[in-house]
Amino acid sequence: MSERLEVIDNFIDGTFSPTDDYLDSYDPSTGQVWAKVANSTTDDVEKAVQAAETAFPLWSATPVEQRSKLLLKIAELIEARLDEFAEVESRDQGKPVWLAKRVDIPRLIHNFRYFASYSLHDLNISAEQAEASAISYTVKCPIGVAGLISPWNLPLYLLSFKIAPAIACGNTVVAKPSELTSASTKLLCQVFQQAGVPKGVINIVLGYGWTAGRFLVEHPRVKLISFTGGTATAEVIRKSAAHLNKKFSLELGGKNPAIVFDDCNLEKCVDTTVRSSFMNQGEVCLCTSRIFVQRGIFEKFLEAFITKTKALKVGDPKDADTFCGAVISKQHRDKIVRYIENAKATGATIKCGHGVVPLNLPDRCQNGYFVRPTVVTDVPDEDPVMTEEIFGPVTCVVAFDDEQEVIRRANSVRYGLCATVWTENVSRVHRIAPKLEAGTVWVNCWLVRDLNLPFGGMKDSGIGREGGKYSTEFFTEEKTICIQY
Ligand code: NAD
Repeated sequence: MSERLEVIDNFIDGTFSPTDDYLDSYDPSTGQVWAKVANSTTDDVEKAVQAAETAFPLWSATPVEQRSKLLLKIAELIEARLDEFAEVESRDQGKPVWLAKRVDIPRLIHNFRYFASYSLHDLNISAEQAEASAISYTVKCPIGVAGLISPWNLPLYLLSFKIAPAIACGNTVVAKPSELTSASTKLLCQVFQQAGVPKGVINIVLGYGWTAGRFLVEHPRVKLISFTGGTATAEVIRKSAAHLNKKFSLELGGKNPAIVFDDCNLEKCVDTTVRSSFMNQGEVCLCTSRIFVQRGIFEKFLEAFITKTKALKVGDPKDADTFCGAVISKQHRDKIVRYIENAKATGATIKCGHGVVPLNLPDRCQNGYFVRPTVVTDVPDEDPVMTEEIFGPVTCVVAFDDEQEVIRRANSVRYGLCATVWTENVSRVHRIAPKLEAGTVWVNCWLVRDLNLPFGGMKDSGIGREGGKYSTEFFTEEKTICIQY
């Protein structure tokens, strides 16, 4: 008997709203359609913007303490359903259930808790100018309807990193998650209803980027767009809204280097770099994909790295010992495999992974989209596998000799999202970190995040920063009021 498909509707003005058309959503681990997702039209987006606009005057005037309490309530309700959220997120995205339980959903909860608390402490500043008999102060004003567009790799985690600060600051929102991973928004919207979020404050429209997403970006009454996704999409978005003078925050792609010096703690470095290369199937914008190893320890590093990589289990996301689940789609799997095969055809060595060891999958996953963690060596810096974002479980390991050389090579790509540096030499850290073109430089660690600190990319990895006061700056207009007495 065939399984009943989940139906995922838009969430507009506090209620689930059916649409005329639905698109198929696949379970990446089985290759089967498991849900039908609303395919929004211009009319649906218009209704959502209208609802958000109507809700704005009351919500923006709601005391911050009350808004904060509501965010805390949302966090509490999600926490009570953590397992259910993690299972749906895994089924929709392909990531292991344990990872969604340990990372995605706890971070989703933390985003609401953090901005609930931050908004209470984000005080206005004032200054007295005695000689002019004047006192000035600033107020941070919510802006209006915010359009929030998010990708498929960390669906609720990234969506909530936009929704929480936007509404904490007093804006109302229309959010558009990726058409590939919209299913878990249903649970989130149930929580919004249960928590008592006033109608119209949070609206979710589902569907394709070039329709629902574009309508939102081009809507003249949507005053700001917070976008996380690909660099190519960001170019399209900015062009299509160029005449509208919107505020944009853009969090984009990466091609992140790890720089491994010969004095590093090799064991910790290898463990962390395997994780930073292959966690979430390499589908994290912050994943490492170019590893530069100082020549003296190159062979030792490579051997240890390959041994650990080979030991990673690729398989059913439901299994507790699976490290890499399924990649998001068949097209994405084919794209990843193409990069590996092209690199091989032009002379690179594939040390382990795709094409080296066959997959050993359980029956239910035979038609799923899986790629083994793949390590590429003997590859020039100019090869596409070294310069383009693959966004899958593929990493390159190459040798370097000295600091100046490795800085130049690490900076030689169009992206600048993050970098990791492995060394026990503190002077070297201070010499190198400022010279790396990256929004975040992790030293002897990876993915240690603090929401108080700015997050974002340099070069083609983005414009603007998110987190704590940086999100507040984006989601408000700060106004100076000067009074002469
Ligand atoms: P994508 O750019 O294809 O899509 C992102 C979102 O934009 C989706 O919701 C999509 O429907 C929408 N979209 C597509 N075309 C649009 C248009 N013309 N107008 C409006 N919206 C449109 O990206 P993706 O494939 O979903 O995600 C992968 C990319 O996201 C990678 O490049 C990755 O590095 C990046 N990413 C960046 C960060 C970061 O914080 N810097 C975090 C996660 C992912």
